[in-house]
Amino acid sequence: MSSTTFNRVEIDLAALRENYTNIQEWVGPSVRVMSMVKADAYGHGLVRCAKTLADAGARVFGVAEVDEGIALREAGVEGDIIVTLGAPENCFADVVRHRLTPVVFDIKNAAGLSAAAAAHDARIGVHLKVDVGMGRFGILPHELASFLREIKRLKGIFPAGILSHFPMSDDSDQQPTMRQLEEFLKLLDDIHPLVSDGSVIHIANSAALLRYPETHLDMVRPGISLYGCYPADDDKDKKVLSLRPVMSFKTSVVQVKEVPEGFGISYGHRFITKRQSRLAVLPVGYDDGFLRKLTNRAEVLVRGCRAKVLGTVCMNACVVDITDIPDAQPGDEVVLMGRQQGEEITADEIAAWMETINYEVVCLFGGMNRRVFLNDKSTTERTD
Ligand SMILES: *Cc1c(COP(=O)(O)O)cnc(C)c1O
Repeated sequence: MSSTTFNRVEIDLAALRENYTNIQEWVGPSVRVMSMVKADAYGHGLVRCAKTLADAGARVFGVAEVDEGIALREAGVEGDIIVTLGAPENCFADVVRHRLTPVVFDIKNAAGLSAAAAAHDARIGVHLKVDVGMGRFGILPHELASFLREIKRLKGIFPAGILSHFPMSDDSDQQPTMRQLEEFLKLLDDIHPLVSDGSVIHIANSAALLRYPETHLDMVRPGISLYGCYPADDDKDKKVLSLRPVMSFKTSVVQVKEVPEGFGISYGHRFITKRQSRLAVLPVGYDDGFLRKLTNRAEVLVRGCRAKVLGTVCMNACVVDITDIPDAQPGDEVVLMGRQQGEEITADEIAAWMETINYEVVCLFGGMNRRVFLNDKSTTERTD
């Protein structure tokens, strides 16, 4: 993507450092924090974010796939890199070479990894995933003891951790999460004699770590909260931990024009002006992740004021109403997500317009636009 594009996603690395530090302080020094940087750090940029987090003290990283782990190692990131989707057979050699830590839930897969590691005289830690109610990856609870015994018999690999995942920790109903935690703890109790010292036990995502301190165990796995968003739009979470959004999305006005009442706007004329209006045409559309769903719905910030999107959002353009922002002119900065002069449009608000969740909004914007990194400390010399 050319650097002259109108649209840019800004990543504030200072906010990322701050969120990480706040989360680590909230869980306390005895709980490790695994920074979830999968999905290109939720659209924020895998390597830049991981290096910033490492600089802030992060020693454990969570990625989805092996290639993300390789990218981190090649960028010089040290510490543990947990691969949550596990490693397919064609990646075993990479796992060994780059000292990655795959999640395992299939014994044939674990046996293959064991053979690959043993062939290189290596010992690779693996984390066993158990399904206590997520209904997705993971061995079923009653299989855990025998699975663990088999893992311990295999050469070249060792159980470095046991994890599970909550499906409903962001729900207002606490019961399912409490039941799942109970089942996980009971299971761990049952297999206690088999668990090696130093095995890391973990289950909490952002919602659980904010709401249920009893889920923190040895390690927590924040994703969305690192990036300054809350896992659900719930004011109670905001009181627990103060987080600052890391991503903003900006463009600029390319044309301003006055039109009369009754003027049809954009494809399908899905908006007809009800008054004489001033319009600003923006060079942003669904090709930039500003989805067509935002037609006649979204608002943007111009000169610190909200302006409504009028009519259909096109591939590379949309139109906003600046009738009440008379000073606006071509070249003005437009904030699609983020702050401008004390006003703010949040990922949550955009998610509501798009009928999705803030997670999808940041992945989408980050994935489809040029990113600019602000407040990068890693290139400056450390003075301590
Ligand atoms: C993505 C992910 C997380 C992080 O979830 P958030 O809700 O973003 O905090 C934690 N654990 C696992 C296994 C994940 O895949």
